[in-house]
Amino acid sequence: MKQKKIPLRKCLGCNEMKGKKELIRVVKNQEGEIKVDLTGKANGRGAYICLDKECFQKAKKTKAFNRAFQCNVEDEIYEKLIQEIDECEG
Ligand SMILES: [Zn+2]
Repeated sequence: MKQKKIPLRKCLGCNEMKGKKELIRVVKNQEGEIKVDLTGKANGRGAYICLDKECFQKAKKTKAFNRAFQCNVEDEIYEKLIQEIDECEG
């Protein structure tokens, strides 16, 4: 039996490999803005993370987005993203 391969992405927070559907995409667009991409279709460099505040907190601590986007990501941006996913969770 051949199993269908599910493309896995690594969460920037907990570093676990998960299916795309379990993660959300965070994108850095051409203007350099970093946003939660709920459509998964926004242009720009993307990174994946669980829809979980704890993973965002971890990413903030380890500055995972700085590495993913190869730029300096201010703490405020992490806070903004955490707020955004907070609204999604509710
Ligand atoms: Zn995670």
